[in-house]
Amino acid sequence: MTKYIFVTGGVTSSLGKGIISASLAKLLQARGFKVTIQKFDPYINVDPGTLNPYEHGECYVTEDGAETDLDLGHYERFLNIYTTQANNVTTGRIYQSVINKEREGAYLGKTVQVIPHITDEIKRRMQMLSSSGYDIIITEIGGTVGDIESLPFIEAVRQLQWELPEGDCIVVHLTLVPYLKAAKELKTKPTQHSVKMMSENGVHPDIIVCRTEQSISNELKSKIALFCNVKPDSVIEAADASSIYEVPLLMQEQQLDVIVLKKLNITWFPEPDLSVWKGFLTKLKNPKTKVTIGLIGKYIELQDAYKSILEAFIHAGAINECKVQVKDIHSEFITPENVKQKLEGLDGLLVAPGFGHRGIDGKILAVQYARENGLPFFGICLGMQMSVIEFARNVLKLPQAHSTEMDANTPDPVIDLMEAQKAITSKGGTMRLGAYPCKLEKDSLAYRIYGSEMISERHRHRWEFNNTYLDRMQKAGLKASGVNPETNLVEIVEIENHPFFIGVQYHPELKSTVENPHPIFVHFVKAAKEYAQKKEPRSNEVLSSEMI
Ligand code: GLN
Repeated sequence: MTKYIFVTGGVTSSLGKGIISASLAKLLQARGFKVTIQKFDPYINVDPGTLNPYEHGECYVTEDGAETDLDLGHYERFLNIYTTQANNVTTGRIYQSVINKEREGAYLGKTVQVIPHITDEIKRRMQMLSSSGYDIIITEIGGTVGDIESLPFIEAVRQLQWELPEGDCIVVHLTLVPYLKAAKELKTKPTQHSVKMMSENGVHPDIIVCRTEQSISNELKSKIALFCNVKPDSVIEAADASSIYEVPLLMQEQQLDVIVLKKLNITWFPEPDLSVWKGFLTKLKNPKTKVTIGLIGKYIELQDAYKSILEAFIHAGAINECKVQVKDIHSEFITPENVKQKLEGLDGLLVAPGFGHRGIDGKILAVQYARENGLPFFGICLGMQMSVIEFARNVLKLPQAHSTEMDANTPDPVIDLMEAQKAITSKGGTMRLGAYPCKLEKDSLAYRIYGSEMISERHRHRWEFNNTYLDRMQKAGLKASGVNPETNLVEIVEIENHPFFIGVQYHPELKSTVENPHPIFVHFVKAAKEYAQKKEPRSNEVLSSEMI
């Protein structure tokens, strides 16, 4: 019963296959279909958990604790559904399972080869989610057509097209139609080449989606259709959008969903209900106020490293009818001398997650500034740990307090390696990962934010709050307002006599979606708005003196 849509990419990487896939899925979902998206990545890492954010952007964690590609974040944010380990498969994982089977003797003495064994495993995984009752599964193939490493995936698609009943499987190919300034022309040749290359591998696209900076005329669409062997109405323009959240509507204008459904032999479908989505977009585009949030991190050169945080701010900003301008501040360059100058003028401060000691001192200084100046503060994972260290050093007067991640010999390990982590040496998939419950204290900021006593949030870390210091911290004003009911691990800390100061050991940004903006982000933006309003006269002064 399940229908399959494969999304491939040509010409260059970074064309936004993930956003196109998510937008198409959104339109189909809005028409009442049960849809999911999965991503097949051609690299050898078993999952992106061991990749440096500079390599591949943020590592997105699912409820079931899978460390996945950041496109899964887009899928969840657009569709408001959970994805799982099965939604992200790499070449490494495919080979790992084939090799494990070979060691078990499952191939009965046969020579194990790319075709059929690797391609069979790819096909099995491409169809795996059909047992979950989806009407349509969209599979995004990572990489660019023509790469050696994506060949087995393309071959698996070729085979599936023959094996599945006619009309159950289509291919959408995303290409680039560049504009050549000197010639004042949009060029179709790269698209022709990439379609040709795919055809050489036996797969022919049913629909071509063209990324472009300029509008594509009907004449040009006909040209692409003619040379690439598709119907003119199957050439879809994907012009640059001001926000990724506009793309579903742009695709709807181009009738991408209708063409897809027809090609899948689905002839009856209701009108899409996109009212919530459109309401969100209206608010997003018409903010009434503006706040500036400082994002303190060490990967700030690369926007993708904090993708989910940035998107969560967009969701929270829209609901607050407030434009959230995120100012990236490199923690490595914050010093006691320049901290005031760097952070002055902000309406809120978010200290980002991270690993290792680089940029740690800057993060601690930033927390101190926020705590002492009543600046709304939000610490995520490492950011929360930094707030605990700062409090220990400057309020409890334990000047050498630290996390044993950065200083194994600190006399005051206020953040320490979790007991369960102590014997672990292997890196991939071994952190505390995925959803865990947390119980909130009734009289707390956290409870006011969430409005319920039991919550569940996703984790990705090895270190934790050291409960030996809990009493002292609480007495001095750093409250543990959220605790794991089974293990007693502290999940949330907050400071009472502060307008908004919260640190969370988990990653709330991973659960923020267009339809369900995350409550901490929503309240943080609200607090930043209030802070901005209060300081308004002062910031005007600063502005005018600067202008003079
Ligand atoms: N490095 C810290 C830990 O492992 C924090 C991790 C994070 O910020 N995700 O506990």
